[in-house]
Amino acid sequence: MPVAASDRERAPDLTTDAATEVERAEHASGLDRVALAASIPTPGDDTPLGRDLAESTRRRIQLTGRVFPKPVVPRVLTVANQKGGVGKTTTTVNIAAAMAQSGLQVLVVDLDPQGNASTALGIDHHADVPSVYDVLVEGRSLLEVVQPCVSVDGLFCAPATIDLAGAEIELVSLVARESRLNRALQAAAAAGHSFDYILIDCPPSLGLLTVNAMVASSEIFIPIQCEYYALEGLSQLLKNIELIKAHLNPLLHVSTILLTMYDARTRLSAQVAQEVREHFPTEVLSASVPRSVRVSEAPSFGETVMTYDPSSSGALAYLEAAGEIADRGARP
Ligand code: ADP
Ligand code: MG
Repeated sequence: MPVAASDRERAPDLTTDAATEVERAEHASGLDRVALAASIPTPGDDTPLGRDLAESTRRRIQLTGRVFPKPVVPRVLTVANQKGGVGKTTTTVNIAAAMAQSGLQVLVVDLDPQGNASTALGIDHHADVPSVYDVLVEGRSLLEVVQPCVSVDGLFCAPATIDLAGAEIELVSLVARESRLNRALQAAAAAGHSFDYILIDCPPSLGLLTVNAMVASSEIFIPIQCEYYALEGLSQLLKNIELIKAHLNPLLHVSTILLTMYDARTRLSAQVAQEVREHFPTEVLSASVPRSVRVSEAPSFGETVMTYDPSSSGALAYLEAAGEIADRGARP
């Protein structure tokens, strides 16, 4: 979309300009978006806030309305980290929503008895709802328990109910206890499901539920919180992944790492980020997710931040990260 020279020279009222430009970007084609982004004026060094806003507007315009490429084959990613509170669930639901908003068909499998992913997606998961428990323990078909997420087209969820808390123990005595989820996914594939991406949200432990996820997928997606103890426990997770790779699933590997709750004001966040990037240069996504109140507020409204506040820094970061994952998956 051509932008008049007078527009470019105009003294920038960045907040209103940003909103209008983003609105325009939603209707713009790829090339137009590049032109629009280039047209955002860059304030001088004396206004750091203005510069940040201009930069984030530019990124937002480039990302908004982009259609993500479909993967070569449907991808299944297990979102795991045995530490609690590192952003597994937040990452699962927001990456899934960002992908669905960008044209992909996405299924979230909630494998945490707490059902936080189901809650965040606004999915009914009271005790009587058919759920992942029925799939794992009763052998019910996965597609029978899937529900659509009403706020995002193309996004679906297999919910977790409180029953799942018992599954960890009930599974022990069942045949093929480590591969029940894998069987269910294989059966769904054989029945011709249309999901491009399946993201499995794991509980904060390395028990049978997490093992089932790792047997059912070839890719592990690890969210790492940018805090001091971030790398502690990671070696345990990697050891477990190696064990499962050796005995149950030779294709298993860590494909994706996302830095979450990044706080640009602290040296600690930067140090942790640098260390993780040095250890895992190809796995870590370039985008990192900032600590943001909007991200943590969204679940209490049964929404992801992608619909709760799509123009927030957290939504933008998740959109950027989802785009990177999709681009990687589209390479043959
Ligand atoms: P996990 O699933 O690993 O236990 P959660 O995704 O539930 O972790 O996140 C733990 C807490 O941190 C939640 O209260 C969540 O809202 C909050 N949180 C996650 N990501 C962010 C973020 N980028 N900014 C602020 N709060 C966040
Ligand atoms: Mg969780």
